[in-house]
Amino acid sequence: MTKRPKLFKDALRRLENALKHTDLSEEIALRIGTPKSCLEVSVPVRRDDGSLDFFTGYRVRHDDTRGPTKGGLRYHPSVSRDEVQSLAFWMTFKCAVVGIPFGGAKGGISVDAKSLSPMELERLSRGYIRLIADFIGPDVDIPAPDMYTNERIMGWMMDEYSTIRRQNCPAVITGKPVSMGGSVGRSDATGRGAFYCIRELAGKHGMNPSDTRVAIQGFGNAGQSVARLLHKDGYRIVAVSDSQGAVYSPDGFDVPSLIRIKEETRHVQAVYCDSALCHAIDATTMSNEELLELDIDLLIPAAMENQITAENAPRIKAKRIVEVANGPITSEADEILFERGIEVLPDILANAGGVTVSYFEWLQNRSGLYWELQEVHRKLQAIMAREFSNVYELAREINTDLRTAAYVHAVRRIGETMEAKGTSAYFSHPKEH
Ligand code: GLU
Repeated sequence: MTKRPKLFKDALRRLENALKHTDLSEEIALRIGTPKSCLEVSVPVRRDDGSLDFFTGYRVRHDDTRGPTKGGLRYHPSVSRDEVQSLAFWMTFKCAVVGIPFGGAKGGISVDAKSLSPMELERLSRGYIRLIADFIGPDVDIPAPDMYTNERIMGWMMDEYSTIRRQNCPAVITGKPVSMGGSVGRSDATGRGAFYCIRELAGKHGMNPSDTRVAIQGFGNAGQSVARLLHKDGYRIVAVSDSQGAVYSPDGFDVPSLIRIKEETRHVQAVYCDSALCHAIDATTMSNEELLELDIDLLIPAAMENQITAENAPRIKAKRIVEVANGPITSEADEILFERGIEVLPDILANAGGVTVSYFEWLQNRSGLYWELQEVHRKLQAIMAREFSNVYELAREINTDLRTAAYVHAVRRIGETMEAKGTSAYFSHPKEH
């Protein structure tokens, strides 16, 4: 057996656990646990001062049983093969949970994007595409945004790929600017998908928005969108954080003010904005770790993986957790939270809204017919509500937590396709025909 790195090993535990609840053959388990391919590249970047630097990039295609592989690109110093491989693995299950015809992939570059000038960022993004161009394609592997990448970067990448292919190829990448073939409603889709799930959850538990205190760790694209929608629906957003720290106010924040100041200053600050003026309001500042342990109703980790571990899980006081980040809870922490009766809505369902609208974008690019915002919202809502209900009912039926049920639901869909293609059971005992 090959030695598996740590994050990926932890990701596999969820699969092993889910497989206990299915009668899929061992061969299928082996196939889904093994990434299809991994490309590592060194991207040369000419700095603005004329010097040359290299950055390491990856693209991992985990599994393409159900269709071309799909998944974002991350720019972060922590990007490693282990991390990208785990994120690609989660994408396979995410696409299967929501029933869209894609497998899973992920990519990234180990870089502190904030340290690059806009032109260096463009050279890096175009250079990366030149190196992976033969590995991706509208019917092969379709990248999208993830941490510290955005629609502008997706636009450069689509343009670079189209230049290489000498034809316009909008469907090679999703999350593009609308003016370059992006879909309306893609930019807030991850947060919106999570919001639709929370509405379903609230319906099941009779949660009343104004009595529900919410803390959100991470105030990037997804964290801001889910905060904005929950606030609009009457939820009390009592704490938010970014990488520098958190602000907490038991009465709740005015989320549009928080978003405005974050966009203007790049920092989360406790403010209330009245037309042109923002003024500071009473709030407690705290660390990200402290935010996770607040006594609240709903905790939304929307930052990085491995935030809730066996170490801090015993101190989590939230009644429910909705994972908007990928992999914020380790498998050991899962068990502790389950024993303590804390309900977790897993990432592969809760944050699947992003890739679902990416699928809509890909469909629009291929058909050349572009949808209205209402249509995007309506179709996203229908998918999230349908799959939430599938996972929720399955968890009851097989008596497990929601994460295990989501994996069982996904692995059944993947397994069915694998069986249809043929397994050793079939080939060693072929049925008469
Ligand atoms: N990066 C997002 C995710 O983790 C979106 C992927 C996509 O749209 O392909 O789900």
